[in-house]
Amino acid sequence: MTEACERVCRVMQRVANEEKIRSGGVFNCRKISGTNVWSQHAWGNALDLFPTESRFNDEIARAAVTQATKRTVANRGRKLELSNVIDHLNSRIWTPGTGWHDYSGSVGPHVHVQAAPIKTGTPACA
Ligand SMILES: [Zn+2]
Repeated sequence: MTEACERVCRVMQRVANEEKIRSGGVFNCRKISGTNVWSQHAWGNALDLFPTESRFNDEIARAAVTQATKRTVANRGRKLELSNVIDHLNSRIWTPGTGWHDYSGSVGPHVHVQAAPIKTGTPACA
């Protein structure tokens, strides 16, 4: 796992509500579904959060964005460095420069929280 993603995991654990998040996953040596681009999961640079119920997906996504846009106690007064947050259930993506916009990738009940900086090239697992 990247150092940046370790921080993402620590901060999201501090704000996690166990009644709303069933599980999380970081490392997965694969390409982005439907593309030839390596997923940040192949470097351990993104965290997927799976809600206990689909209706919590939006709240989990917004909680991650709050950590990236506000100086929070959970991140010891800093903003969390994220390159994007994908609300896969509601087909929307948040990026630091543009905020929320439409996302056309895979759909399902989970939130993708991607650390910054992003990794490029070929991952060690390939
Ligand atoms: Zn993901």
